Amino acid sequence: MGIKVAKFGGSSLCDAEHFRKVKAIIESDPDYRYVVPSAPGKRFDGDEKITDLLYQCHRQVESNRSHEEIFKKIADRYLGIARELGLDFDVEGLLIETSNAIRQYKNPDFAASRGEYLNGMLLSKYLGWDFIDAQDVVKFDRQGSFASEWTNEIMREALQKHSHAVIPGFYGSYPNGDVHTFSRGGSDISGAIVARAAQADVYVNWTDVSGFMMADPRIVKNPKCIRELSYRELRELSYMGATVLHEDAIFPVHKAGIPTNIRNTNAPEDPGTMIVVNPSPDHRPGDQIITGIAGHKNFTLLSIEKAMMNSEYGFGRRVLQALEDFGVSFEHLPTGIDTMSVVVADKELVTRKDQIIQRIQQTCQPDSIEISAGIALIATVGHGMTSAPGTAARLFTALYEAGVNIRMIDQGSSEMNIIVGIDIKDFETAMNAIYRAFVKD
Ligand code: ADP
Ligand code: ASP
Ligand code: MG
Repeated sequence: MGIKVAKFGGSSLCDAEHFRKVKAIIESDPDYRYVVPSAPGKRFDGDEKITDLLYQCHRQVESNRSHEEIFKKIADRYLGIARELGLDFDVEGLLIETSNAIRQYKNPDFAASRGEYLNGMLLSKYLGWDFIDAQDVVKFDRQGSFASEWTNEIMREALQKHSHAVIPGFYGSYPNGDVHTFSRGGSDISGAIVARAAQADVYVNWTDVSGFMMADPRIVKNPKCIRELSYRELRELSYMGATVLHEDAIFPVHKAGIPTNIRNTNAPEDPGTMIVVNPSPDHRPGDQIITGIAGHKNFTLLSIEKAMMNSEYGFGRRVLQALEDFGVSFEHLPTGIDTMSVVVADKELVTRKDQIIQRIQQTCQPDSIEISAGIALIATVGHGMTSAPGTAARLFTALYEAGVNIRMIDQGSSEMNIIVGIDIKDFETAMNAIYRAFVKD
């Protein structure tokens, strides 16, 4: 017998009907030993996610307004699920306690974490499994960075005491015990942490799509599903915007050599996508040279030009020092002979753009600095892709024929991706053009 860890996303636990699907999945395979739930997500377009409502509650409390009206919407969701499933424990009492604690602690992370906490309580009662509070077994350091080895130790010890358990996703605690959350979508990370500590054979991430698609299905119609990909390819795709899995969910399982299987709670018979350390050589259909495409909006391109830049000692360092001095990180750094471009996320620049430019002017004395905001980046990813003849030509021709102007090109040294920077307005057109150029129906 093996060990499987299952994480269910918010859409997979949005109402009682989905809880039933989850139970059927878990009971269909005795290898499932640990389950990591998210908070209930949207049931339909325009519905509200519990986590969003909890953040709203916190904002009310913080500005000394009542959060009761908003909390009632949250309570109704959980009460409805408990009633429909016939759970007989004091959900109402738990909800009152939670509402009071949100008011008392005035802590956004604590408030947000209650979505997973309450859902975990409900699911553990429904499955008849033990409940392990993530606050006790997922640790952050005092600065809020995830403490991976410490967590692994205490999580492993805790799991050994429970043959079957539910561990809520998304949160843990600081050394002093106060609740702290991962960034949004962080239950994927919790699931990977549990899989590592359980030394699982596979981490099954149950969501609302039948696997990782070659492109975001909200942008490209009916993209093909990726059957198998490597963790390195996944890292490139999720970093660049394929949001199906949180980008930090990769590290715990990759390190431990545990594959991740993305599956659909609403179509459990579909095999989904396997993410592995070393994909089989024929993991892509014969004529297909790429694995997937992902993109992200809202970047700024700083293009710095200076004649003979390449022979000037320390030029690049001084440009990057200007960014570092103002606490700004960069995404990409494509360079030419007399030009250097730095791609920075817009949100990093909001208040510091003018100071950075001034600093670069002073320390580098460039001939010109051009600032282009409103840039979108698209990464085309696949092992060995860039060494296949004609790949770049095919990509650039597709964009040219679609009337998309390329503002920047960055071909990573990994032979695994080509990134283009384009105007935001061309984002959807470019994603579709690249997809059609590489994928035959
Ligand atoms: P969960 O609530 O299960 O954590 P998410 O909403 O976080 O689910 O992630 C699943 C969603 O990711 C899908 O519904 C889909 O809209 C989106 N998505 C973005 N890029 C991709 C992709 N390449 N393949 C599949 N889904 C994608
Ligand atoms: N519930 C949290 C969020 O909405 C975490 C998660 O869903 O993974 O971001
Ligand atoms: Mg998610």
